[in-house]
Amino acid sequence: MTIGGRAVAAPATFGVVNPATGEVADRAPDASREQLDAAMAAARDAYPAWRSDEQARRKALLAAADVLFARSEEIGRILTLEQGKPLAEATMEVVGAGVWLKYYAELELAPEVIQDDAAARVEVHRRPLGVVAAITPWNYPLLLAAWKIAPALVAGNTLVLKPSPYTPLSSLKLGEVLRDVLPPGVLNVVSGGDDLGAWMTSHPVPRKVSFTGSVATGKRVAASAAPDLKRVTLELGGNDAAILLDDVDPAAVADRVFGAAFMNNGQVCSAIKRVYVPEALHGDVVEALAAKARGVKVGDGFTEGVQYGPVNNRPQFERVGELVADALAGGARAAAGGGPVDGPGYFFEPTILTDVSPDARIVVEEQFGPALPVLPYRDVDEAVAQANGTEFGLSGSVWSADADRAGEVAARLECGTAWVNTHLALAPHQPFGGFKWSGVGVENGPWGLYGFTELQVLHRSKG
Ligand code: NAD
Repeated sequence: MTIGGRAVAAPATFGVVNPATGEVADRAPDASREQLDAAMAAARDAYPAWRSDEQARRKALLAAADVLFARSEEIGRILTLEQGKPLAEATMEVVGAGVWLKYYAELELAPEVIQDDAAARVEVHRRPLGVVAAITPWNYPLLLAAWKIAPALVAGNTLVLKPSPYTPLSSLKLGEVLRDVLPPGVLNVVSGGDDLGAWMTSHPVPRKVSFTGSVATGKRVAASAAPDLKRVTLELGGNDAAILLDDVDPAAVADRVFGAAFMNNGQVCSAIKRVYVPEALHGDVVEALAAKARGVKVGDGFTEGVQYGPVNNRPQFERVGELVADALAGGARAAAGGGPVDGPGYFFEPTILTDVSPDARIVVEEQFGPALPVLPYRDVDEAVAQANGTEFGLSGSVWSADADRAGEVAARLECGTAWVNTHLALAPHQPFGGFKWSGVGVENGPWGLYGFTELQVLHRSKG
């Protein structure tokens, strides 16, 4: 672990499984409560100096980005080992983390002058909060950590990061490689189980919790942060709908929809998780998606040419299998895939489901894996109602040859990002967050940065 700029071992360790084999590949430190206290104390002690020198912060973040660019493949290998994604994607994730650090290192954070007259000069400043507790999931451990680290640090906060117990190694490595470019205590990385996350959210030192994970845990985090009014940003689950309008080209759109549904093996919060297709096009779209699913290469992320790795962990693997089996038992048909791949590891066939009941669990719940239900609709109002008829509200998309028409439908989606003729187009400058149970607050862009600050009014009387 990285605590106060030093390498720290824990009294105990836990196994980290390679999902391509199902075997323990390495061990990670299981931080004690005292070690969490030490990490929080290190972050608190580093805060006054860090918050006072904006230029030094920007320089350090640029240097941190360069370290990630230079060591992307080395760190990417660790990510593939514990997460399962193909090495090229893992390496790109490390590069992406660097891109986010660089973006925020260069983002202006100027005060706004809202009055300057004979009576007063009034400026609105954004001040850092103090220590941030950052908790991340296992699907994009490094990218999602960077979404927190970059804005939090550039704003002048210091941070303690806890990765998921399924993917701790790459984040521990991140802490290690950044020790030389960040002052001690500015970025601390600890690992452990879910308990460690709960200790963090109830710990007296952090002023802010930035959490990415499931809705159920997000609610616990919000409750745990409430007694001392810690600020929270919650990036939670999604059940994104893609609505195809009646003028799409089935083959072309299926290609794009497949990409956005199966990226990272469907383990993306804002992946397409259900597709609504006009009745007349439904058969063609199902067949085009199924052909795509049958044609992709699934395997160990270290094998050249593999496009999709295993599901990350056993509970998730079993959950995807359970949701698919439930749909099939309820009358659905697998146009492609339909079950786990024989052999070791958590491999699941890319699955396209048709004839799925709109109430099936795989439609209503977040599957977060390589299985996609394709549902027919009669009129657009019905499709919009179904897309919105959920507690989730992360993102969604509408596809059409007429972008204006699609834009009008997209505007009716109750979600944080509504895409037209694309899905999963994310960028550092574009805010990202969820409506309803998909989250509180946003990440990315200046808005994401504001989430790591408190407004301060500096009112100078001239009277
Ligand atoms: P999870 O909620 O099980 O775990 C997330 C993190 O929270 C882990 O680090 C875990 O150890 C920690 N944790 C568990 N219990 C805790 C507690 N009581 N207090 C504090 N921390 C605790 O989620 P997961 O299974 O790792 O990730 C998958 C979920 O994350 C999916 O629902 C997915 O949609 C969501 N997700 C959302 C976004 C987004 O930006 N909206 C991005 C990626 C993933």
